[in-house]
Parts: sequence; structure tokens; C-alpha cells
Amino acid sequence: MQYHREEADVLVLGAGLAGMRAAWAAAQAGPGLSVALVTALDGPTGSSFANPNNMLGMQVPCGPEQEDRLVRETMTLARPGQADPRLAAILAREAWDRYRELEDLGLRFRRDGIGQLERFAGCFSPDASGAVVFTSLAQAHAAFKARILELGVRIIPGLRARGLAPGRGNGISVAGAWLEDLSDRTPVLIRAKAVVLALGGPAPLFAFNLSRGRRHAWGDSYAIMEAAGARLINAGYLQFLWGDTATGAFWFLDELGRPGVKVQAPDGRILAVRDLLSREDRDALGGLAEARRSHCPAAYGLPDAALDRFAAGLLNSQGLLKVRDAAGAWRSVAPLAHAGNGGARVDEWGRTGVGGLSACGECASGMHGANRVGGAMVLATQVFGRRAGEEAARRAMGLTLPPVGRDWPEEILGSRGRADAGDPARLAWLRGNMQRCAVLGGRPGLSRLHDRLGEMEGLGGPDFRLALRSARAVTAALVQEEARPGSTSASMTAAA
Ligand SMILES: Cc1cc2nc3c(=O)[nH]c(=O)nc-3n(C[C@H](O)[C@H](O)[C@H](O)COP(=O)(O)OP(=O)(O)OC[C@H]3O[C@@H](n4cnc5c(N)ncnc54)[C@H](O)[C@@H]3O)c2cc1C
Repeated sequence: MQYHREEADVLVLGAGLAGMRAAWAAAQAGPGLSVALVTALDGPTGSSFANPNNMLGMQVPCGPEQEDRLVRETMTLARPGQADPRLAAILAREAWDRYRELEDLGLRFRRDGIGQLERFAGCFSPDASGAVVFTSLAQAHAAFKARILELGVRIIPGLRARGLAPGRGNGISVAGAWLEDLSDRTPVLIRAKAVVLALGGPAPLFAFNLSRGRRHAWGDSYAIMEAAGARLINAGYLQFLWGDTATGAFWFLDELGRPGVKVQAPDGRILAVRDLLSREDRDALGGLAEARRSHCPAAYGLPDAALDRFAAGLLNSQGLLKVRDAAGAWRSVAPLAHAGNGGARVDEWGRTGVGGLSACGECASGMHGANRVGGAMVLATQVFGRRAGEEAARRAMGLTLPPVGRDWPEEILGSRGRADAGDPARLAWLRGNMQRCAVLGGRPGLSRLHDRLGEMEGLGGPDFRLALRSARAVTAALVQEEARPGSTSASMTAAA
């Protein structure tokens, strides 16, 4: 089989905020090393730079008191998932320095009329104004790109990562990556001494999400990391925001309680929501709604998650909730997959425990758990992207290029590196079912879907197989969580 070969000392996969920061740190920590950054597109990509909001919030605690507070909030919000207090502390303590670097890079942080940095409350942290916001993401992308080019990073555009190349000897389990040229599907092997994976999260696995399309993301990172032996944590805890499926605009659950608003129940009846609730639940509504307003994504394990579960009980067989406003206009809303809080379990240097492989950004976890403070993900891309890149460079410095396993990776590239004509239909099926059964901690039909995905292992071409494995990592985590004693005690279930 013909394939194209490349080599690098440090290989970074993915050019969002995490991958860019890792490449920057690797080049700075190892002058003379060759650092290659793979990106599917040589322009703004990912949730980081092709984000429809064109702005991002970042937690930047100022001083020890605020840092301690962020650590406490991170650890409290992490339940029922898991977070490592050491990573949470690093996240908070290094925030200010990472923010200063972004200022120096020229990112456009919002300032008030007299030039003071504006502060905002982050989701799940309504009482602290710990977040700052930068705008103009294409400009931010250009600034990162200029910095890494200046440091000698080689950007390799037009490639899709398919899997990691197994290595042999010297404690190296990963010795590069198998990729595919997106223009003609030619396989490419890039051998490397250290690989940093920054391919983003699993949101594209859901039919309704905020991270597909022009963002060049497929949601493959979990499958790629798991196949290499990395351990995933918090994989079932994706953030879902309720939104209009036609426009992607946010939709607030509060609307259900407004006078004149009706919904179409799954059995076709058109009802006012209050009529579906028991008196007890109606009494509880006010307090829950107040708490729910403090965060856009649905929560896990917090009392107000009952509101989202109640609304999820109204979803029809396509995973849509049809709502009629007081003026009589209908719209379809659904939980839109936004970002994942799970990923490879990493240590303080982004190491996954698999020799030669680090991970950072949305495909790494442990610095937050089931829920996270709004703006903490952008912060994590900078703090742990930098650490992963620096450590990868340190590791690469003492090594020679490790040998790669010689077998053709049929499992990840298919027998001829060609697409399977049935994959688009299979992928649509997969995303539709993930949307129906795997949102908001799991819906009826989840276990059946999980089993069905297991039976489908090996079916289809490389595109479908990767998505299937990533999806199965999510459903496995959800099924396990469902089986946990005391999990998800739904209190407002009248309509479910
Ligand atoms: C609408 C929206 C608003 C958000 N707002 C905030 C916010 O205000 N604050 C906050 O903290 N977080 C926010 N988030 C989450 C945050 O933006 C992301 O979690 C974060 O930017 C992820 O960065 P990343 O570098 O890990 O991944 P990404 O930015 O998603 O980058 C992944 C990179 O990998 C590439 N890639 C993916 N798969 C492959 C492959 N197989 N081969 C090659 N390349 C591949 C992509 O093209 C991209 O370059 C938001 C997310 C969304 C969708």
C-alpha cells in the first residue's frame, strides 16, 4: 500500500486553542526540535476559532483568594464525575500568566469605556466575576498562527488524523500518527518522538450540536485515544444547551413556565406545561428555575437538573421538543451538544499514561469533572496545552525516532484508504440515535443503543468505525452512571 511519510520530533494533532498552545510551548521549550502541527484546514477551525459566538470567555482568577475559590468550585461541581485537585489547583494558579500571554499576543479582550478589563460571571459561578472575554476569533487564530510560525513550527494542513501509530521499545507505545489527506484520501504516516493530541471533544457525535460543519471536527478523539490504550474519564458528561434546532439560537427553559406557552407532548396532545406538573412540583419550580438561570448548560447531579430531565421527558421520537409561544408560533428546540467535560485522564503535564502520548484541551479531563465553571475550558486549553507541549519537547529531546509497527493499519484506514459509500447514512443514523438516547445523562433506549453499537463494531468504513467507537465510549460511561446506586433521581417526571 502506498502512503506518504513525514517525520517530526513533536507532533501536535489539532489546531484549536489547545493544539496551538501546545505547539507554541514545544517549539519554545525545544529550540532546534522539529515541531509539526496537523490541521484539517489551514484557517480557523474547531470550537476555539470557528465558534459561531465569535467570542470566548476565560476564567482568570486574580489573587490567591479568587484562585482558591475557583479550585473549590471546580471540585464541588465535578461530582458525580471525577476531578483531580492537583490539576484544579494548577488551572487556577497559572491562569493569570496564561491570560497575560494572550494579551501580549494581541487577543482582543473586552474592556470598558475607561480601558479597564471587563469581568463577567461564568456559568455555575454566578457570584464571582471571574471570567474575561475575548472577541474576534479569526484575529485570535491569526495571532496564534503568526506566533507558532515565528517559532519555526511546521503547519501541515489538509490532513485528518485517523489513529496513532504504535511504537516499539523505550517505553514508547505511540510513535506517530496515521492520517489521511482530505483532498484525495492518500494515507499519511507521520513518525514522531512525542505526540500531543488536541482533537477537541465529542459534540459532533450528536445530530444537534454547536461544533460541526465548517469547524472541521468529527468527534473522533475518544476513539483514537482509547485505541491507543488511554483511559477516558467523565466521558458521559457532555454539556447540552437548549437551542432552536433551525437557528442554533439559545432557548431558555424558563419559557415553558410563561403564560400562553404550550408544548406538544410526545403523545401529540398540546398542553400548557403547568398542567403536566403535580402541585408539589409546581411549588418547587420557582426555586429550581432561579438556580437553573445561573448556567446555560444543563447540570449533572445538581437539583436543577430535574428541570432539564422534565423537559427531556417531552422530547418526541426525533429528540425534538415542539414549543408554541404565546403568539401561536411553533418552533423545535432540543438539547444541543456543546462541549465535552470528559477525555483522557491526564496528569499535571498532560501525560495520558500511554508512552509517547499526551492530550490537552477538550479531549483531556481531570482538571474538571461532570460540570465545570464557564470559561474554565478555554483556560484549560492554555494551561494544559502549554504544559503538554513543553513536556513533549522535554521528552523528545533525549530520544531517537522510535520504530513504528510495520503492519498496515487496516483497522483505521480501511483496506484501500477509501471511503465506504454507506458511511454517510450510517453516520446520520448514529448521530440521530445519540441525540435521541444519549443526551442529558441518558434517555430511554440508552442501554439498547449501547448494545447495538457494540454489535456494529467492525461495520462500515473508517469514518463510521471511528465515530462508532467514540460514541460507544460515551454510551458506556452513561450506562455505567445509570447503574450507579443513587444516580439521577428525577423529581419532576410527570411527563416522562
Ligand atoms: C458555541 C460555543 C461556545 C463556547 N464558549 C465557551 C466559552 O465562552 N468559554 C469556554 O471556556 N469554553 C467555551 N466553549 C468550549 C470551548 O470553546 C472548547 O471546549 C475549546 O475551544 C476546545 O478547544 P480545543 O483546542 O480542545 O478543541 P477545538 O477548538 O475543537 O479544536 C480541535 C482541533 O482539532 C481538529 N480536528 C478534529 N478532529 C480532527 C481529525 N480527526 N484530524 C485532524 N484534525 C482534527 C479541528 O479541526 C480543530 O483544529 C464553547 C464551545 C462552543 C461550541
